[in-house]
Amino acid sequence: MEDTFRFSDSFGPSRIIHVYRPALGLKAIVVVDNTACGPAIGGARMAPDVSLEECFRLARAMTWKNAAAGLPHGGGKSVIFGDPSMDAAAKEELIRSFAGALRDVTDYIPGPDMGTDERCMAWVKDETGRAVGLPGVVGGIPLDEIGATGFGLAACVDVARECIGLDLKGARVAIQGFGAVGKHAARFLANKGAVLVAASDTSGTLADPSGLDVGKLIDLKAAGRKLCDYDKGTKLSGDAILDADCEIWIPAARPDVVRADNVSRLRTRLVPQGANIPFTPEAEQALHDRGIVVIPDFIANAGGVICAAIEFRGGTQHEAFAYIEERIRDNTRAVLEESRRQSTPPRAAALALAERRVRSAMAMRRWR
Ligand code: NAD
Repeated sequence: MEDTFRFSDSFGPSRIIHVYRPALGLKAIVVVDNTACGPAIGGARMAPDVSLEECFRLARAMTWKNAAAGLPHGGGKSVIFGDPSMDAAAKEELIRSFAGALRDVTDYIPGPDMGTDERCMAWVKDETGRAVGLPGVVGGIPLDEIGATGFGLAACVDVARECIGLDLKGARVAIQGFGAVGKHAARFLANKGAVLVAASDTSGTLADPSGLDVGKLIDLKAAGRKLCDYDKGTKLSGDAILDADCEIWIPAARPDVVRADNVSRLRTRLVPQGANIPFTPEAEQALHDRGIVVIPDFIANAGGVICAAIEFRGGTQHEAFAYIEERIRDNTRAVLEESRRQSTPPRAAALALAERRVRSAMAMRRWR
């Protein structure tokens, strides 16, 4: 009992569901956190090493993210234990079975996350009637293809760099993780004049202080190859991305990659968090103490979920981009101003903003 309720506080989670189908090798966890603002939207992640704790922390991050973005949605998340590169037929069977188990969990709307994609969401929708981040042919806005989260990160950077007096033209960018989030963030920032000096994926870190060609790297990845297959630049270990000398360092891979034991290696001025919960609280505090501005995940990377929520209500890609730009710019500015006024890290200011919105929605609900 105690163990199951160890995450409980005044916001949630309202439900934790374990899904287990031994014959299929299916093990999954769903956390529906706070639904005061509306049905929860949150990604379905597939990885071999996910955990209940990771799922809860990600669900809570979605509660804050959706509230901060002013969406009529609460926060939730699901994790499926498994290797996302498994055989396609086995993956379809696993995802469909997972979705089938969630047919009656109508206050949770799954979206794509690490290890799942638009096709997976089409299977979920087919089984349950609910999913976001769908392929265009079934009513989706292909958020990863158009780079909704990367677009939002670039809008966030544009506001934050004003606050720290940084010129985006020539600003050096390093990105950990060159997937749906990282590559589009690189593209939108390069379009604004920034220079990608280092990027990493599971093959290692690729670095070039004179600048990497973002378009060529995107083409390389689209061809199914790795960053370290690129014929230019220096190839280093995956960990070396932490040491990249830059003005903007973007985490766009896994949780807790920057911790108390490695935070001193970061040499940057601004960190818009592309990944969810990429830094431990100690690491964020250490960066704040060094004057490095960290824009928290649930403000900086809200582009994807905003796009998903617009899709859910039948809106267009054009509307999604306009809403992302407006919301992320306003929130980044509000959070940085409040952080400066109160002399607190931006995360504390962002949390206060999101909590205020969730509490006022909870005050209008019967079960608070
Ligand atoms: P993705 O699977 O498309 O890309 C992940 C990238 O990270 C890949 O290039 C992979 O090679 C790389 N990677 C994995 N482990 C790594 C490691 N240890 N070191 C360096 N690189 C590593 O995933 P994504 O959709 O880009 O999501 C990345 C992160 O952003 C996740 O934390 C996700 O929750 C978060 N996020 C995604 C979206 C979205 O719209 N896709 C929105 C908000 C937040």
